Order: sequence, then structure tokens, then C-alpha cells
Amino acid sequence: MPTYFISDLHLSAKKPEITERFLKFLREDAIKADALYILGDLFDVWMGDDQVDPTTQTIIEGLYHLHEQGIPLYFMRGNRDFLIGDDFAHNSGCVLLPDPTRIMLYGKNILLTHGDQLCTLDKKYQSFRRFVRTPMLESFFLKLPMRLRALIAGWIRKQSKRSQTGATYHPTWDVALETVYGALRHHDCNTLIHGHTHQPNIHDFILDEQPAKRIVLGDWSVTTGSVLIYDLDTITLKTLV
Ligand code: MN
Repeated sequence: MPTYFISDLHLSAKKPEITERFLKFLREDAIKADALYILGDLFDVWMGDDQVDPTTQTIIEGLYHLHEQGIPLYFMRGNRDFLIGDDFAHNSGCVLLPDPTRIMLYGKNILLTHGDQLCTLDKKYQSFRRFVRTPMLESFFLKLPMRLRALIAGWIRKQSKRSQTGATYHPTWDVALETVYGALRHHDCNTLIHGHTHQPNIHDFILDEQPAKRIVLGDWSVTTGSVLIYDLDTITLKTLV
């Protein structure tokens, strides 16, 4: 059976079509998977595990149902939902993965990352990221009243708007290839799977005389979804309608 990978759904109460497609995907597609990996930005914004609206509750229940059916679920935080915590993991049945994580899949070492750490040409974003991801700042934020958190989250959203669908593509918002090569070498992998850039593709290249792959997951919109179906001998980026 294949392993499924998704990312960048940006789920929110404002776009119920995407939530509907995701729940249908869990019921009809993911149920057939060996495992489901969610590589970040499942949610458009996450302001803490203590703030669960009805949309979020439905999503958590959908995931938990799959977990109960025996499908292993793995969740890596993205730049939009990096505040996902242990309560979410517990309630949804997901295992939280650090970014990056190396897994063994059908006999191959595969490196998984959300992808924003690879966009090293964008110096401003990287220093912004280092700032907001300070553990002390994170725990301070989570103690703030919800209204204040919402204000700050709005500001954070603006900072990462550039990587959203519809924005004009610019090379500095994409991954830096030297950083990709460095990460693959460091983790002793020939295959990298990431999201974040919203440029779904399977890139084949040669790294240190070995065939290598960079698989970029697609984002979801109100009209389509995207899933990577990774099997022993076939790798497919499938569009969901
Ligand atoms: Mn992202």
C-alpha cells in the first residue's frame, strides 16, 4: 500500500470548500494508505491548542477517526501552524515530527521538511523566522489573551503572504538548491519531500553522481487538492477535485 503526503491546505472557517475536500479525502482516500504524512500548513493559522473553533473541531475528529481505523498519522508543523502542540496531537491521533525528519520508506532514506527553512535566499524571512520561533517568545504568546494573539497572528500572516497561491512567483521565495543539496548530504538521503512553495513538481537530478529527487507537494485551493502517492515503484502527484 502507498504512503500519502499532503501539505499547505491552509484550512480555515473562511474556506469551507477546502475543509470539505479534506474530510472527503480522509474518508475516501487516506483510509487506503499505509500512513498519512502532513508536512505543515494544514491550518491557515494556529493560535494555540486552547483555541478550537467548530471547523477545527471537525478536522480534529476527522483525523482521529482515521487514527482509530489504524492509519498512522504524522504531523510536521509549518510556518503557519508552528504553534500546534501536544493537545492537538493527542486529540487528533497525530504523531508530531520535528522539522526536518528522516524516514525509511520502502527501503529508502527520505528527508521530510515543511520547506521554509530551505528558502535561504530570502534573508528577511529567515531572520523573521528565527525571531518568531524562539521558544520563550512562543510560550509568552500562548499566554496572551486571544484577541491579542489574533492581532499578532494577522501580522505574521502578512509576513508569509508571499508564498500564498496567487502571488507572483519570485525565485527568492523558492528553495535555494545549494541548501537542498546540503540538507540531503547532511542527512544521507537521495530523496527530499517538502511543501511550502506551492510549486508542485517532481524534480529529478544527479547529486554526487547518484540519482536524486526533490518532490514538492501542492497547495489546496477552493477548487482542487493535491496529494503525493508514494509507493514501492510509483510516485504520483495527484490532483484531487
Ligand atoms: Mn508554508
